[in-house]
Amino acid sequence: MVKDTCGREITHIRLSVTQKCNLNCLYCHREGEGDKNGCDKEISVSEIKGIMGAASELGIKKVKITGGEPLLRNDIVEIVKEISEIEGIKDISMTTNGFFLAQFAHRLKNNGLNRINIGCDSLSSSILQKNIGNIEKGLKSAEDAGLNPLKINMVVLKGINENETGKMLEISKKYNAILQLIELIPTNKFFFDKFFFSLEGIEKELERKADKIFVRDVNFRKQYFVDGAVVEVVRAHLNQNFCKNCRKIRITSDGFIKPCLMRDDNLVKINFKSDEEIMKSLLEGINKREIYYR
Ligand code: SAM
Repeated sequence: MVKDTCGREITHIRLSVTQKCNLNCLYCHREGEGDKNGCDKEISVSEIKGIMGAASELGIKKVKITGGEPLLRNDIVEIVKEISEIEGIKDISMTTNGFFLAQFAHRLKNNGLNRINIGCDSLSSSILQKNIGNIEKGLKSAEDAGLNPLKINMVVLKGINENETGKMLEISKKYNAILQLIELIPTNKFFFDKFFFSLEGIEKELERKADKIFVRDVNFRKQYFVDGAVVEVVRAHLNQNFCKNCRKIRITSDGFIKPCLMRDDNLVKINFKSDEEIMKSLLEGINKREIYYR
C-alpha cells in the first residue's frame, strides 16, 4: 500500500472526467478545477486506463468518477467498463446530478459500476437545481439497477434548505439510500459567509438518537443508524481529523494529479508517454500531499 509523506495510506482515486455540466449549482466547487466549464481537454479512455492501471499497482482499489457531470461524457459506459477490467480495482462509484441517470443506470451497473451518489439538495427549492422533482426518476432507476449502496448527497445551506434534512431522510428511506449531509466547502468568501450552515447541531442530535455509530476510516466520517435510516455527515471545513484521514488522490479532467481539493499550487501534469511515466507522475503527486488543516 502506498503512503504519502504524512503517513496516510492512499486507497482511493477521485477521477474527474469532464468539467462540462448541465447545471450551474450556486455552491459548486467543481472539484477544485476553477471555472473550466466548456474546457475541451478531457482525459481519454486510454489515459484513464493508464492512470488506473498504475494506481492499482500501488494498491489503490477504489475509484470515484466525478466531474462536471460525468454522464455528459459520451463514452462514460466505456470508461466504467475499462476501469472494471483492471485487476485490483474492486470498487467503482460515481457522483452524478442524476438528471440523465435513467438512461444509464442499468448499462453502468452491467459494465461494472458498483454504487452511486446522487446529488439532491431539496424537495422544493427552485434555487437549488438538484431537487427531488428533477432527480426522482434517476433515483428510481439507480435502485432498480441495483447500484448499492445508493447515496443521496445533500449540501446543506443556511436559509435555503437547512430545514429540509428531516424530509430528505424520509426520501432516503423510501429509496433505501444513505443520506449524506454535506457542509459547504468555501468557494468564495461572500457566498460562504452568507450560506455556510454548521452541521454540528444536527450531528449532536444524530448522536443522541442513533442506535449505532460507525466511523469510516475515510476522512473519519461518521455514519449514524437512526430509525431504520443511515445518515453520514461530511464536515470538511477546518476539520483536522478529516484531513488527517484523507486517503484519496485526485485526477483532474484535463490530466493533472491534484493532491488536495483546496490547493491549486501543487498540481502535477501527468506524463502519458508510457506506463512508467504515468507511475512516476502519480508518485510525484502522492509525494506532494500535505495535511491542509493541521
Ligand atoms: N455533477 C456531479 C454531482 O452533482 O454530483 C458531480 C460533481 S459535484 C462537484 C460532486 C459532489 O460535490 C456533489 O455531491 C456536490 O454536491 C458536492 N459539492 C460541490 N460543491 C460543493 C461545496 N462547495 N461544498 C460541499 N460539497 C460540494
